[in-house]
Parts: sequence; structure tokens; C-alpha cells
Amino acid sequence: MRIGFIGLGNMGGPMAANLIKAGHEVTGFDVVKPALESLAKGGGRAAATAAAAASEVEIVVTMLPAGPQVREVYTGGGGLLAAARPGALLIDSSTIDVETARAVAAAAGERGFDMLDAPVSGGVGGAAAGTLTFMVGGSEKGFARAQPVLGAMGKTIVHAGPSGTGQAAKICNNMILGISMIAVCEGFVLAEKLGLDWQKLFDISSKSSGQCWSLTNYCPAPGPVPSAPSNRDYQAGFTTAMMLKDLKLAQQAAQAAAATTPLGAEAAALFQLAASSGLAHNDFSSIFRVIRNGINLQAQ
Ligand code: NAD
Repeated sequence: MRIGFIGLGNMGGPMAANLIKAGHEVTGFDVVKPALESLAKGGGRAAATAAAAASEVEIVVTMLPAGPQVREVYTGGGGLLAAARPGALLIDSSTIDVETARAVAAAAGERGFDMLDAPVSGGVGGAAAGTLTFMVGGSEKGFARAQPVLGAMGKTIVHAGPSGTGQAAKICNNMILGISMIAVCEGFVLAEKLGLDWQKLFDISSKSSGQCWSLTNYCPAPGPVPSAPSNRDYQAGFTTAMMLKDLKLAQQAAQAAAATTPLGAEAAALFQLAASSGLAHNDFSSIFRVIRNGINLQAQ
């Protein structure tokens, strides 16, 4: 299949490489030159503009930083909606706000294009290994057409429902993750103050009702889970800055939908504190340091 790929960054670069490995013809564009050079090195074609990358292909995938870039790349002057071939399928895999996802998909629909929101989970490692999870919002027909393309980049591909529900799934999941990570941090900090060994708490809680992914796969206290970022000085992983972005998107959506999410709001405030205390580029489980020592991070 001929595929246009816009946004060849930490995620988009390896995703496009996997499409090429699967035998697709990929034409890509990014505003950053080295990203284009590594696409060309990997067997893709570098285009001079987003419009040029999209004009001769059957499917366009975008992997951009946030909502404003997605709006601009699709609907701005010389954008994808003006340049794509009639009948092309448009897939946005960036993590963006639900409102922008629905607005851009509606604008695409007015021009006769089927558009999917298909954000991912799995991080840079999953992008490189081709094992991402795709949460897809949009039509059944578009979802079916996207399968061979998404299947080359991911392992789990779920149709979440109509337009915008892929983004909704992403922010709801990450709000649960952000809150549960803080809950686990508080449990381990309290254990320490009470003289309860971290490994003992882990052995008990991982087999009890406190069990959750943040505890068993990603324990924020060093020791119990050797592969967790807490054992490599909280090197990311999934950064605090990224978790904060997703929690802000969740709060924006909660306000727009009048949903009650007080712990989501508190989690956003705590991750903001962590980010502005120097932990923005550390793994998000480094929030443990804030819970354990306040913002006096030098103390550790
Ligand atoms: P990134 O900043 O590495 O990549 C974004 C790319 O888009 C950059 O190369 C940038 O130059 C390019 N870009 C920006 N504006 C552009 C434009 N107008 N035209 C063409 N290219 C443009 O970010 P990333 O880590 O690859 O993340 C991309 C998206 O995936 C984000 O929405 C992020 O939230 C989401 N995401 C990231 C991860 C992760 O672990 N990195 C995990 C899941 C989801």
C-alpha cells in the first residue's frame, strides 16, 4: 500500500520504519530534517511538504505533538484535507483532545474523507518493536481498511466506537494510571514510616486487593520490581511531562463533559508539581520522590 506519514519523531520514526519493513511504500514529512534523513535511510521517500507526502497515497498517518499541530496539518493552508487523494483514509495517531479530534474528523468528512483517531499506548519501545496498542475511533469501514496498516505497527487494535472515542479511551486509561501510580506511592511512603519493609508490602499487596499495574509492573519504590524505572534512577520510560499532558487533556474533557473527576484533578496538580520540580523528563513514577520528600528533591 502507498502510505503518507507526517510527524517522524520518537514515535512516528519507528512506526514508519515498521510500515516499510512490512512492504508498504512510505512517503514521509517532518519539519525536522534529520527525521526525514533517517526515513530515507530506512527505505522511505522524503517529501518536501505534508501536502506532497499525502497527495499520491491511499492512507495518510499523522503522529504529531498535540491538537494545534494536528488542526494545522489537516485544515491549515496547504493542509492534508486540501491535498489528499479523493477516497484516501486519514489516521491520526497523535494523543490530542477529544474536541479537536472530532472537529478535524468532521472537517475531513465534509470533504468526503473517512478519518480515524487512533492514539497509541506502548511508548517508544512498543513503536520500535511494532507492539503498540491502538485505540481507534471512527467508522467500522474505516477501521476495517486501517487493519493492515495498524497491524504492521501494533499488536492490539481495538475499535473503541465512533469518532473521538479512541482519544477518550487513551485519556481515561492514563487518568486511571496517573491516579493509581500516586496511590501506590502513598502506600509505600506510609509503609516506610510505619517500619514495614517495601518488599514485604509488595509481596502482600501484589496478591491482595491493592494489586494494580502501577504496583506489579512499575513499582515506584526501588527494589521489588527489578525492571521498573525506579531501579534506574527513574529514567523514562513514559515521562512525567507526557503523563501531565494526558492528565490535562483528561481534565479538559471532564470539564467539557461535566464529569466528576476530583482525583484526576489532584493527580494533574501533583504531576505539575513534579514536572516543575525538575522531574519533567524523568519517568512518571518519579512522582514517588515528590510524595516521599515533598519538593525537596535534593534530599534523596
Ligand atoms: P515527538 O516530538 O518526538 O514527534 C513529533 C514530531 O512531529 C516531531 O518530529 C516534529 O518535528 C513533528 N512535527 C511537529 N509539527 C509538525 C508539522 N507541522 N508538520 C510535520 N511534522 C511536524 O513526539 P512523540 O514522542 O513522537 O509523540 C507523538 C505523539 O504520540 C504525541 O501526541 C504523544 O503524546 C503521543 N505518544 C507518545 C508516546 C511516547 O512514549 N513518546 C507514547 C504514546 C503516545
